[in-house]
Amino acid sequence: MADALQTTYNRLPVAFERGEGAWLWDTEGRRYLDALSGIAVCGLGHSHPKIGCAMAHQACTLMHTSNLYRIPLQEQLARRLCALAGMEQAFFCNSGAEANEAAIKLARLHGHRRGIDQPKIIVMDGSFHGRTLATLSATGNAKIQKGFEPLVEGFLRVPFGDSAAVAEYRNDPDVAAILVEPITGEGGIRVPPEGYLRELRSIANENDWLLMLDEIQTGIGRTGRWFAFQHDDVIPDVVSLAKGLGNGFPIGASLVSGRATDLFLPGSHGTTFGGGPLACRVALTVIDVIQEEALCEHAEQYGARLLRLLTERLAAHHGVIDVRGRGLMLGVELDRPAGEIVRAALDRGLLVNVTSERVIRLLPPLIINDAQITEIADTLTDLVVEFLEKTEKHRITA
Ligand SMILES: *Cc1c(COP(=O)(O)O)cnc(C)c1O
Repeated sequence: MADALQTTYNRLPVAFERGEGAWLWDTEGRRYLDALSGIAVCGLGHSHPKIGCAMAHQACTLMHTSNLYRIPLQEQLARRLCALAGMEQAFFCNSGAEANEAAIKLARLHGHRRGIDQPKIIVMDGSFHGRTLATLSATGNAKIQKGFEPLVEGFLRVPFGDSAAVAEYRNDPDVAAILVEPITGEGGIRVPPEGYLRELRSIANENDWLLMLDEIQTGIGRTGRWFAFQHDDVIPDVVSLAKGLGNGFPIGASLVSGRATDLFLPGSHGTTFGGGPLACRVALTVIDVIQEEALCEHAEQYGARLLRLLTERLAAHHGVIDVRGRGLMLGVELDRPAGEIVRAALDRGLLVNVTSERVIRLLPPLIINDAQITEIADTLTDLVVEFLEKTEKHRITA
């Protein structure tokens, strides 16, 4: 029983015992198609043999030494990620929230270096940046903040996707940075207007602000590029990574370039576990596999196919507001609360998630195949159509 656990989650009544590729098996031996990947984590699918072997081999060789010593695998991973991202330096931690904590600290150091006493960071409505005090304060969701006041100060909030609202802070001498997700994850798979990141880049350049991208959900191939910002031809100053980087082994990273390099000095930031040999070996192997199996291209192609199938079948259906996304990060927005679809999908052997109450979120593994794409589209179409018929009277008419 779960009665000895603190109640941080409303869990579904299922437990998985084994996984292979995009499939999971529960404790009764029932099979499920995983269209969520442990929330954008297991991009290579479950039990990828190269990941398991790399992990086992490293675990039998060396697991942890601390950051008091050089860690060659950490140096190697830093070089590899920086080369892929066009960035210059990396800091490694253990989760997404920690990567964003590093970003927030960098923004404050940058502000102080510019002579700002109380530096501020522009953040977005509907954003999600994590559950630590600073990252939940940056998050644009009152439900996540409620009960944890006093919040961390120093965040200015504007609507997501609206670069003009950011530009209004041009003359504010206290602003040091912008923190934004290229596509919102928890915030409902919202895709900003074309050119948004480029506009933010130019506003940040004009004002000597850091452009800090939270790519924790969008990064590591998810949207069909290594990083979502690569669709827009910009180079950010700071990038936060986690989720897909370890394929299930915890690791986070904060990459910096340009004006954000060399802000941390010995003693300004640290971590006991971050960047250990085991986590770095796993992440290096994840990168190898994504390259060897051309999974960015695969995500782009198969994501486009799933988006097309769902758009053809659902976009014109009454009750469906939008079908959208990029690569294998897709959302189907309905006009009413849709939480119960998660359970109905589970009963049919499909794992999906609903976020922002009304958005069905799909984050299938990058290794998804044709037959599995078809199965996701077929099952989800049936579920949505049945759900909309059954709940017609509860429609929000606003
Ligand atoms: C998941 C997520 C986080 C938080 O990551 P944790 O590893 O849960 O701390 C932050 N930002 C975004 C965009 C995320 O999707």
